[in-house]
Amino acid sequence: MSSVQIVWLRRDLRLADQPAFHAAAQAGPVVPVYVLDDDRAGDHAYGGASRVWLHHSLDSLARSLGAHRSRIVLRRGDAPQVLAALADEVGAACIHAMRHYEPWWKEAEDELRDALGDDCKLCLYDGNYLLPPGSVTTGSGSPYKIYTPFSKAMLDVMPPRDPLPEPDTIHSPDSWPDSPDLQDWQLLPAKPDWAGGITDFWDFGETAAHDRLDWWANEVADYDEGRNLPSQDITSRLSPHLHWGEISPAQVWYKLKDKRSDGWRTFAKELIWRDYAQNVIDQFPDYPRESYRDYDERKLWRNPDAGHLIDEDLECWQKGMTGYPIVDAGMRQLWQTGWMHNRVRMIAASFLVKHLLIDWRCGEQWFWDCLVDADYGNNGVNWQWISGTGVDSNMFVRIMAPLTQSEKFNSADYIREYVLELGDLSDDCIHDPPDEKRGDYPSKMIGHKEARERALEAYRAAK
Ligand code: FAD
Repeated sequence: MSSVQIVWLRRDLRLADQPAFHAAAQAGPVVPVYVLDDDRAGDHAYGGASRVWLHHSLDSLARSLGAHRSRIVLRRGDAPQVLAALADEVGAACIHAMRHYEPWWKEAEDELRDALGDDCKLCLYDGNYLLPPGSVTTGSGSPYKIYTPFSKAMLDVMPPRDPLPEPDTIHSPDSWPDSPDLQDWQLLPAKPDWAGGITDFWDFGETAAHDRLDWWANEVADYDEGRNLPSQDITSRLSPHLHWGEISPAQVWYKLKDKRSDGWRTFAKELIWRDYAQNVIDQFPDYPRESYRDYDERKLWRNPDAGHLIDEDLECWQKGMTGYPIVDAGMRQLWQTGWMHNRVRMIAASFLVKHLLIDWRCGEQWFWDCLVDADYGNNGVNWQWISGTGVDSNMFVRIMAPLTQSEKFNSADYIREYVLELGDLSDDCIHDPPDEKRGDYPSKMIGHKEARERALEAYRAAK
């Protein structure tokens, strides 16, 4: 019998088009393992919503593996040490893993290589992105920093490679290593159990991801127009499935490739944003933590050290109590479902950094905790793009007007769904209700004109 192969699972929780699984299943009996390594990512350890998704996704994958008479071994602790010990325990010849680009995973891959003895090697595979980061470059051979030329270069070399099938057979080892019950990890909240909105809104796992993609194949033609309308369900909602690797971008690409509409073309560029974000964190590992523009940020953000009381304002934003219905609907959707529509993410993020002049990192951390698709690359890149502090070209002075945006993109039904206090208001006043119609709903924290002037003033001082 050939020697045991370990598959180290991280954000690649699928069986089909999973090159690490594919290679392991061809080489010998497979021990799939997930290591919960809480300390490694520091301030980017999984947030509450991510832990809920992780629980359900592991549960779902374990059931799929059960159909192959296989299972997932769960371990907790420092991933390289745990994996090296497991390799010794089972006599593994190889640890197969998908490559990840978060700095802590790149470090872990290096540490694991050092920790393994001569009898076991580490094999890394690509496939969580359309192309491995760093593989499209400028004429001078350096990686792209700006999205638009990156996107053009990516489109020139598409399609991605063909997806791989699910392995027909996954052989089990002679004996299975010990593993705790998934429940013992307590990834789900208990007292109180706040995850009901998330479990109502989502189906988890690889099968659910493909069901969603099947649905999306019939809708994508309308994406070009529809993606900006929060009241309508015209985005794929594949983001958590892609983030957790329940489906690969190549599978998405090939499923939709015959839908040659404007909608598909726009959608393809959004998938490319996801690749772009990984390219950025591959080049700038601290991107979700550090600004990359030459501003004096002490003058840009309201600062508690300078006596500004931002805590209360931050809490109003987090709780969806800013008095701007579109912002509050978004923040409440986030809290309830672990997801927010992209157009509203932009409006709510812009409101925090420009209307409230609160450092983008506070928003990035809140999203990190609340989003089921919280992604080190996508989150950091989008927050820096909105606040104009990153390497891409958006500027701080482009200040979104939340009330105009709300009306322009017909957000009335969306507001009614999430801001229940305004549920009876008509379309013509729900975007900016007059005081007498607000009832228990708060008045605006700051007027748009005043906020805009304050932001521009701060920008001038910071430059
Ligand atoms: P669709 O519109 O159907 O797009 C398809 C896929 O393309 C998405 O699933 C996603 O994987 C990718 N995509 C779309 N837009 C973007 C984008 N702007 N940047 C990167 N990838 C994109 N997305 C995340 O996946 N994780 C995050 O943590 C995250 N944080 C964000 C924070 C802010 C402040 C903003 C403005 C955007 C953020 N996004 C993030 C991007 C975007 O909002 C979501 O990917 C999108 O709303 C997910 O919904 P969907 O799957 O229906 O997207």
